[in-house]
Amino acid sequence: MTLAGYAEASTPKVLFFDLETAPNLAYVWGHYEQNVIRHVQEWFVLCAGYRWAHETRTHVIAQPDFNGYSPACNDDSQVVQALWQLFDQADILVAHNGDRFDVRKANARFVEQGLTPPSPYKTVDTLKVARQQFMFNSNKLGDLATHLGLGGKAPTFGFDTWTGCMAGDTTAWARMTKYCKRDIDLLVSVYLRLRPWMKSHPNLNVFTGLSNCPTCGHHKLMKRGMAHTRTMTYQRYCCQGCGAYSRGRAAATVTRPGVV
Ligand SMILES: [Zn+2]
Repeated sequence: MTLAGYAEASTPKVLFFDLETAPNLAYVWGHYEQNVIRHVQEWFVLCAGYRWAHETRTHVIAQPDFNGYSPACNDDSQVVQALWQLFDQADILVAHNGDRFDVRKANARFVEQGLTPPSPYKTVDTLKVARQQFMFNSNKLGDLATHLGLGGKAPTFGFDTWTGCMAGDTTAWARMTKYCKRDIDLLVSVYLRLRPWMKSHPNLNVFTGLSNCPTCGHHKLMKRGMAHTRTMTYQRYCCQGCGAYSRGRAAATVTRPGVV
């Protein structure tokens, strides 16, 4: 799949990503609505799926990919460092629920491992867009993708996959990797479908210096009426690549000179 505006590896570098984390391990006295008595092991990153927008294939970086991995070591330091490198290269991060979950989870691991902040980036959270712009029955990534006819999630095979990875089981890791990879593919598809609806997508022209579609970077813009603010009127455009509306930079007319 080619993403309009992202044909080359030049700026802006847009990174789609998703984290899979291990659960907290803790002692509890019972089954229902329990307080944790003591944490045995805090959550950590099992793997991260990602794809650069100019790429056609999805990658997964998982603990077993690195030298020194031993089953059940549960050491995410190399995955976290690789993830930091990706964040550091990115101009825009795209994730589903990324602003509330994935970015903050990643930051938690970065700072815990003594890493400094990656270079600044902007974010696009497809969950926020789904909530703001539509009223679907469910805004979960898999449900959205299925509902929009973009495919469904890969099977997780249940919680055993998570515990299997934590125990170093190769079948569990294979399932986790496949599941994570599929999530990125769905994320890209959902992002593309929702993109023209996004009111606050980062302006790609700021990165490129061009005057293309600010949402997708496509060069073909069709004049489609005028955009009015309280005081100014601008030329309005509709992108022939993604369908997003935008407006010209310069005011076409001033409705009442001297009056604001
Ligand atoms: Zn566009």
